Amino acid sequence: MADKRDYYEVMGIPRNASEDEIKKAYRKLAKQYHPDLHPGDKDAEAKFKELNEAYEVLSDKEKKARYDQFGHAGVDPNFGGGAAGGSPFTGDIDFGDIFNSFFGGFGGGARRANPNAPRRGSDAEAVVNIDFEEAAKGCKKTIAYDRIENCQECGGSGAQKGTSAKTCPQCNGTGQVRVSQRTPFGVVQTSRGCDRCHGTGKVIDSPCHTCGGSGHVRRRNSIEVNIPAGVDNEQILSVRGQGNAGTNGGPAGDLEVFVNVRPHPIFERRGNDVWCEMPITFSQAAMGAEVTVPTIDGRVSYQVREGTQPGDVFKLRGKGIPFINGRGRGDQYVQVTVEVPKNLSQKQKDVLREFDSIAEEKNYAKRKSFFDKLKDLFGDQQG
Ligand SMILES: [Zn+2]
Ligand SMILES: [Zn+2]
Repeated sequence: MADKRDYYEVMGIPRNASEDEIKKAYRKLAKQYHPDLHPGDKDAEAKFKELNEAYEVLSDKEKKARYDQFGHAGVDPNFGGGAAGGSPFTGDIDFGDIFNSFFGGFGGGARRANPNAPRRGSDAEAVVNIDFEEAAKGCKKTIAYDRIENCQECGGSGAQKGTSAKTCPQCNGTGQVRVSQRTPFGVVQTSRGCDRCHGTGKVIDSPCHTCGGSGHVRRRNSIEVNIPAGVDNEQILSVRGQGNAGTNGGPAGDLEVFVNVRPHPIFERRGNDVWCEMPITFSQAAMGAEVTVPTIDGRVSYQVREGTQPGDVFKLRGKGIPFINGRGRGDQYVQVTVEVPKNLSQKQKDVLREFDSIAEEKNYAKRKSFFDKLKDLFGDQQG
């Protein structure tokens, strides 16, 4: 355990990264290493675990403060000193006083956060992979993810069954000790997080064997999530109360589900509109034709008008993606490509030559305008 990587290094962020930057870094890396995207890849799995552990600490203001001051020993009950199983230190309990002592403790008057106050748990994260159609129409998905739960064995106290946590004798349960400090302005009294209990105000003589004294265990949870119609790639859905357990009886955090929409072989989403490209033949474009167009609702027929040009776009109103939080849908746009026929037989060539021989100027307006311009530039030579 001594060679644990630094959490900031794991997440690739500087020590002064903002809450937002931490979240962003997590999302980026979680997508990179998520086991669903790398089935059977042990290395990605280990990296994903390491990332989650780092994020769990750095996304939690109090745990982050503890980590910043004490390193891994500040957040992991199994780490570092003390006789085997005898660590007095409880891993997940509020440590607000340390934080306050840094930013408000100097000269007194700091707000004293009660280390035993209930605190909401942090958010858990999961990734769900869905198809283009599932995003367009909505779906139900069972999502399995790791979260922190209260230890059933000790009821979340961290103390072995039949024993209980005691008030820390060094700080009398406040989690803080007063210290005199010499400064350029003279000696002042400041408060520090208590070394004995690491600011929790409690010591546990016989830690619970199941959770190692933290009162929390990491467990795989599985829930069914309703994914609403119209959800887009990289959107995040929050599921209330399905995140990590709170401390001291505080509520659980939320589950944040990152939505990963697999690309579609034909459709492309732009906002709530669906775009696709459709090849038609030279004669369909010239004479017009009834064609079959794929939509997310299935096939529809469409009358391509006579004289359709390559790149022309037609619109199928209301055939796009539903608006996620409202009524109505976007449209579908179909961009026409005209496929020039290849590998012609002799008979086909003969027919086309015959067609060319009876073609008129009015059949080719663009070509006529081009040669008219050429005449203006170079004088009359071409036709
Ligand atoms: Zn326990
Ligand atoms: Zn203490």
